[in-house]
Amino acid sequence: MAKTTVQLASGHNMPLVGFGLWKVPADQAADTVYNAIKVGYRLFDGAYDYQNEKEAGQGIRRAIEEGLVKREDIFVTTKLWNNYHRKEHALQMAKAQNEAWGLGYIDLYLIHFPVALKYIEPEKRRYPAWWMDDAGTIEVDKVPIRETWEVLESVVDQGIARSIGVSNFQAQAIMDLESYARHPISSLQIEHHPYLVQPELIALAQEMKIAVTAYSSFGPQSYVELQSPRANVSKPLMETDTVKKIAEKHGKTPAQVLLRWATQRGVAVIPKSNNQGRLAQNLDVLSFDLDKAEIDDISGLDVGLRFNDPGFYLTNKPLRIFA
Ligand code: NAD
Repeated sequence: MAKTTVQLASGHNMPLVGFGLWKVPADQAADTVYNAIKVGYRLFDGAYDYQNEKEAGQGIRRAIEEGLVKREDIFVTTKLWNNYHRKEHALQMAKAQNEAWGLGYIDLYLIHFPVALKYIEPEKRRYPAWWMDDAGTIEVDKVPIRETWEVLESVVDQGIARSIGVSNFQAQAIMDLESYARHPISSLQIEHHPYLVQPELIALAQEMKIAVTAYSSFGPQSYVELQSPRANVSKPLMETDTVKKIAEKHGKTPAQVLLRWATQRGVAVIPKSNNQGRLAQNLDVLSFDLDKAEIDDISGLDVGLRFNDPGFYLTNKPLRIFA
């Protein structure tokens, strides 16, 4: 039987398949999460940036109150946004986010991006969240990652979060952080799909016992609605001959093949869908196996194409964090 969870360096287990909450409208988040629990999802990937934590927590609490699940069956990931990296803000934010979810504790708390932006009062936030004002001003702040990481460690000590980790970090920042970490980096969440495979980064993380979670598993799919110019330069991954042929052979959908390509290599996935049928199929991605040649063929689609790149989409002031 295929593994359904991965053990984190903190000792806690994380499901290999979860549900991503980015772009789930706040007024639909409670029902979406509740329905996802009914379908069988146990991991929910949220963030302060998604502005739906309170509602997602309401959906989970409803499922708990109705006896569908217990708190310990559910795994909640959430993330610290870039404006709150300073010591005092990071701690305040962790407490506020924990309160918003309303579940007693957070399972996994991540630094969302390895870049600090100047503080902005939560109620003054703009969208995109990188902006300080409607003119699209971006102001970086001088906060070392170490300052923020040490707050995350205190968040574990205080029982606010059980495990901590990072997102959108690359090898050098991870290796530096590891040199002083008192609590382990339990998880690394990165953009990962066949157009952006990053095999070396995944190998490094796995060698360091850091569990990798893939986001945007369907590549351009998630960025079409954001009208990203990069989303249109490549064929949708689900329509490539490679993925379609493998899907036909296994009697699965292209989406399921893309998710299995990750989970079979021990990489967790957190696809997002508002559609009931797709919700169920995205969860059923551990019950079949691809052979090595199929995995290699899918990895062969790699063209180093990154969609979530603030060095590209922040045109006023590109933040070239992936340089
Ligand atoms: P995704 O790769 O899950 O793709 C979502 C898109 O695919 C939607 O348009 C959806 O309608 C479509 N889709 C979903 N299931 C499908 C299926 N079975 N068949 C056909 N189409 C299907 O995109 P995502 O939302 O970018 O990534 C997933 C999650 O990862 C997010 O919700 C969020 O939680 C997380 N994430 C994290 C970061 C980060 O910086 N850490 C960045 C982006 C996303």
